[in-house]
Amino acid sequence: MNTPEKPVPPVNSWTAPYWEAARKGKLIIQKCRDCQKYIFYPRMSCPFCFSDRIEWVQSSGRGTVYTYTIVRNNAPSAFLADMPYVVAVVRLEEGVQMMTNVVGCAPEEVHCDMPVEVIFEKLTEEITLPKFKPVKK
Ligand SMILES: [Zn+2]
Repeated sequence: MNTPEKPVPPVNSWTAPYWEAARKGKLIIQKCRDCQKYIFYPRMSCPFCFSDRIEWVQSSGRGTVYTYTIVRNNAPSAFLADMPYVVAVVRLEEGVQMMTNVVGCAPEEVHCDMPVEVIFEKLTEEITLPKFKPVKK
């Protein structure tokens, strides 16, 4: 039986810099030049003050698990081989939150407020996904 391929995020003009940086192993997020707030996911204008003066800045790549779930069944078929896996919302040090996966530990070890840092997992030639692993003490 052939395993279906995983869905690939769409790339457009305002997300292209994000994916290009991820390919190079860098996590970048947007920051509004007018209200100085960090923005994630990538947008064409600031969701807080509607300014279009947005710049890309490097994230520290560190954060904590805000919330998570462990997928043990009913995963989309392309993800069956990954089960069990962790889908999490990680709050970066900059304050923005990202939906992601926590990898590099047993799913049962993941907990809220757990310190994590970014790693990169190549999905296709174009798309590399930022994921997170526990910070080792
Ligand atoms: Zn703004």
